[in-house]
Amino acid sequence: MIRPLTRAVVFPLAMTAALASCGADNRPVTGGTPPPAAEYDMSAAREIISTSNEPAKRLFGAKRSSSNQTPAAWGSYAKGCVAGAVQLPETGPTWQAMRLSRNRNWGHPELIDYVQKLSAKAAQQPGWAGLYVGDMSQPRGGPMLTGHRSHQIGLDVDVWMLPPARLNLTSAERESLSSISTRRANGAYVNSNWTPQHHQVLKAAASDPRVARIFVFPGAKVQMCKDETGDRSWLRKIRPWYGHHYHFHVRLSCPPGMAGCVNQDPPPPGDGCADAQEWVNNILNPPPPDPDAPAPKPRRELTLADLPQQCAAVLGSR
Ligand SMILES: [Zn+2]
Repeated sequence: MIRPLTRAVVFPLAMTAALASCGADNRPVTGGTPPPAAEYDMSAAREIISTSNEPAKRLFGAKRSSSNQTPAAWGSYAKGCVAGAVQLPETGPTWQAMRLSRNRNWGHPELIDYVQKLSAKAAQQPGWAGLYVGDMSQPRGGPMLTGHRSHQIGLDVDVWMLPPARLNLTSAERESLSSISTRRANGAYVNSNWTPQHHQVLKAAASDPRVARIFVFPGAKVQMCKDETGDRSWLRKIRPWYGHHYHFHVRLSCPPGMAGCVNQDPPPPGDGCADAQEWVNNILNPPPPDPDAPAPKPRRELTLADLPQQCAAVLGSR
């Protein structure tokens, strides 16, 4: 897709400094070629940042379309934005995007490609016409008005546990249909909705080298650890987490060469099965609360100043 460049005047020095410091998020960035500087008017961006105390979720939540920029993920999964995002078509040969009213079927092109390929693999499973795809990112990523803390840089996707029986759901049906829970005992075990096909779909999902990790409830991981008789290396990327029994959550690594996109540390070596069993044990026999544990700090709303400065340019782009 060819897009006209809209902002021409930029100070190259300011751009270099902005990339080196990566806004408020001071963690290391991966190296690579920056997107064309002409797409980022950083002096205008800094002005937006200094004058806006509006919660970032309201600014990003109001955008209905993606930015007119080269695709780029800026910042980290729970503190960032995405430039030049692409919309997953509402229906494809092997998928349907759900809850269209949320307008969260957007992502980095790498994520769109991933979802399409994974859905084609899922469609080979008996009983699965493909995938029902839940939340990805908003058109320009960023914090959301409701729901997730992550999903901000166009590299996260929620995939429904409900095997798609058909792929001709109307938009009304996509609002009202619910996924199914696959857990029992608070996530310590899978329930009868869990099938060998879920195992195969998650295995295919984790086997794509672009995946950083996949979040699912602990009982599912332990079940897959027990059932896997072949290659176990993919299990490393399946990470036990709270919730995640109506859907599993795939997180891609930063695409190679993407300056300004912040990866998480990779999962520890090994299949992680003992760790998942420990999660299960803690669900079944919760340890007594630690009386010295500090009270959880209330979370402050993110503002534009908390995000990489490029996110203001993403927001301001046509
Ligand atoms: Zn998610």
